[in-house]
Amino acid sequence: MTTLPHAYFNPPRRLPFVLPTPPEGKKLISLAINESPYGCSRKAWTAAEARFGDPNRYPDPSSADLRRAIARQFALDPERIVCGNGSEELLDVVARMFVRAGDQIIMSQSGFFQFAVIAARLGAELLRAPEQDDITDVDALLALVSEKTKLVFLAVPNNPTGTLLPVDDVIRLHEKLPPHVVLVLDLAYGEYMEKSDLARLMRHGGAQSNIVITRTFSKAYGLAALRVGWALAPDWMTPGLNLIRGVGNINAIAQAAAAAAVQDQVFVDRVVAETAAERAFMARHYGRLGLRFVPGFGNFLLTRFPDDETKSAGKFIDFAMREAGLWLRPVGEPGFANWSRMGLGNRAENELLVRLLEEFLK
Ligand SMILES: *Cc1c(COP(=O)(O)O)cnc(C)c1O
Repeated sequence: MTTLPHAYFNPPRRLPFVLPTPPEGKKLISLAINESPYGCSRKAWTAAEARFGDPNRYPDPSSADLRRAIARQFALDPERIVCGNGSEELLDVVARMFVRAGDQIIMSQSGFFQFAVIAARLGAELLRAPEQDDITDVDALLALVSEKTKLVFLAVPNNPTGTLLPVDDVIRLHEKLPPHVVLVLDLAYGEYMEKSDLARLMRHGGAQSNIVITRTFSKAYGLAALRVGWALAPDWMTPGLNLIRGVGNINAIAQAAAAAAVQDQVFVDRVVAETAAERAFMARHYGRLGLRFVPGFGNFLLTRFPDDETKSAGKFIDFAMREAGLWLRPVGEPGFANWSRMGLGNRAENELLVRLLEEFLK
């Protein structure tokens, strides 16, 4: 018992997440957890339906077709791709490969919550580097690196801030890291970046022996329900990652859907374009309503509520659920007590959000 990480008995307070029940007679509208409002590619849907015809057959434990489809789409080596039950599994698998109790993991101050959960699972010491204007500060991060550092987790764009560390800074961070430290680049929102920036990150990361890149089908591809992510890892690392991941970690329907989805980049481009239009729409309305927000690049905007206690983020979150079954969440990261990371829905959902904000703030 005493050898288990202390966190098992004293876990982060925000766990477990619970899906809320909307008020009687209302449908839940979710802008709380960064899902896409645009569904998925028709081709993914058709492929999933077809595979559902053989539910008695196990999935391919090596996800070979899916890895080949990803590799073909992005000109990668399929042997260097590891698929996971969401990229969440892969972040955990990478950490389990390199981190033991007492080792250090470094992340940016307002980095992705899941990074902290993973550190707690392993009994690792988590260090958070202070940020500049809500953006990762490479030098502050490097200043925390020690002999005991095993992993640096970095999400680009970041969640919950949505901010983007420029590619040059990511490269500089990597160049200054000692070779015993593995840099995990979490590109869950990579599709929402400039294509050339994403390509540069993939190219640079893919050429290093201590960078793992993770991607997901949960956001722009709109397949969150199926739980599929993938990692591009150095050659020498993939056998270990494959050992640690679950054997049948991705169900067959999810594999089929994701393999079809990755080939439909027209769909992804449309999602990204619509998201950009909705981001501009909400930015305009937040501005008009006097609400400050962090200029983000994901499918959400981290937005600050007025200091007036009757107009707080917490009060609005309750109000939106009560009035419309609209689900929003507070932000747990320190320094964001009166903020909410509000998802960019479709136009109708965003108009509803604006109406609710107008009524609440008046
Ligand atoms: C949503 C998200 C993920 C996890 O996505 P999966 O559904 O597990 O693939 C990973 N990283 C960040 C930063 C995210 O916001």
